[in-house]
Amino acid sequence: MNDLAALPANLAGQLQAIVGERGLVADAGPYEIDWRGLYHGRAALVVKPASTEEVARVVALLAQARVAIVPQGGNTSLCGGSVPDASGMQVVVNLSRMNRVRTVDAANNTMTLEAGVILAEAQKVADGHDRLFPLSLGAEGSCEIGGNLSTNAGGTGVLRYGNARDLVLGLEVVLPDGRVWDGLRALRKDNTGYDLKHLFVGAEGTLGIITAAVLKLYAKPTAIATALVAVPEPATAIALLARVRETLGDRLTGFELMSRASLELALRHIAGTSDPLSQPYEWYVLLELTDGGEEARLNAAVEESLGPLAEEGLILDAVLAASGAQRKALWKLREDLGEAGRLDGPSIKHDIAVPVSRVPEMIERGGRELERAFPGIRILCFGHAGDGNLHYNCGKPAAQDAAAFFAQQPAVNHVVYEIVRSLNGSISAEHGLGVLKRDEITHYKGAVELGLMRSIKATLDPHGIMNPGKVI
Ligand code: FAD
Repeated sequence: MNDLAALPANLAGQLQAIVGERGLVADAGPYEIDWRGLYHGRAALVVKPASTEEVARVVALLAQARVAIVPQGGNTSLCGGSVPDASGMQVVVNLSRMNRVRTVDAANNTMTLEAGVILAEAQKVADGHDRLFPLSLGAEGSCEIGGNLSTNAGGTGVLRYGNARDLVLGLEVVLPDGRVWDGLRALRKDNTGYDLKHLFVGAEGTLGIITAAVLKLYAKPTAIATALVAVPEPATAIALLARVRETLGDRLTGFELMSRASLELALRHIAGTSDPLSQPYEWYVLLELTDGGEEARLNAAVEESLGPLAEEGLILDAVLAASGAQRKALWKLREDLGEAGRLDGPSIKHDIAVPVSRVPEMIERGGRELERAFPGIRILCFGHAGDGNLHYNCGKPAAQDAAAFFAQQPAVNHVVYEIVRSLNGSISAEHGLGVLKRDEITHYKGAVELGLMRSIKATLDPHGIMNPGKVI
């Protein structure tokens, strides 16, 4: 915890002297509440510095006064990481005004962006240079590069390109005492000791403020093939994953599993959706493949790969998108599952990862043990199965009231997380720990690992001013 007693006199004036009038936010409201409206804090002040120098001066000032800092990007965190607590003593440092493109080096396949660049803009910058920046997720119109790196964001392209950690070559970070670490190296090889950038990736703003990053670019695919296939069960889906990789290799970009129960929520609650296959099946996989060259050639390769698998019974039915509009419609079913779940009513959500090979066991044991302990609970399972990442959500039994259902949340979590533990998995695959899982994680990481995390935090942030109360 930080050792703050009270806010210094005229803090607003001192901050305004650094960030100017535009940089001091008059209405803190929108910055104090998270995207889902679950976490509502109260900030002492909200500042929006416009340069690394301003961030450094703001942090140095706050560090000297021992005032806690909450770094904030697009504020799309799903675990309460980006909002202040209720004390009214924390200063939100929002990075959105730091949104410049510093350089694009197409020959090096890199771009250097400031932390406040919105992810969708970053994708456009890459596209403008005939390159691909492959990070892609549902919040891409709002979330920012600094937030993406601080949460080690995943999304739909991880299977081929990795998550945010795999896409960063260098970082610039303002440390908790206001010093600037310039690690903006655009190197693919650099074995000169500890790779410090990885400390800040996924740290959820607890170790420093990322102000800029060197990001990897890739060749822009010219062909995309998208298919929805019905499979008998999750084990078949995982067998299918291996077989498709054997025949189509790295061209496989996305491999999303959806249960019928979750698909039905999309069909019921999301306008403009329809069942793409002529009859219902228990499980579906949405496959996406990308390549250079002609799209017709890629589609033919996909058909050639999937055909024999259908004959073997791994695939029960399939549709291959014949146009961009059909591709969008298939993805809409997957991308709107979260929203469909929200519209359907109360649910207890889990964002878990297990080794890909254990995905079927996770689903089978989870369903069996939850149904036994909480009769009538509705399992709504979907996710990036190709990465071993499931959104394993539990819907309220129809007859139960919401308060009684949520009273069982710790017990429901316990069932799910104990299975995850037994499979050597993770209780947070994508969304981080924030406030939501800060306490829970202490049961699922060993003492040695937690001790190392705490000593890294204490070394970099001895006064505990950087996003206190989050992660650890
Ligand atoms: P914020 O929410 O502002 O902050 C997130 C954390 O990072 C906080 O702890 C904050 O303190 C810290 N932080 C922010 N900026 C900085 C910085 N510059 N320096 C240091 N710390 C900083 N996530 C996925 O991984 N995959 C998905 O598929 C996915 N889908 C989503 C879909 C929707 C509809 C929504 C709302 C969210 C989704 N998320 C997903 C979660 C969220 O979008 C990601 O975690 C995203 O990376 C957060 O970026 P942000 O800019 O909004 O960060």
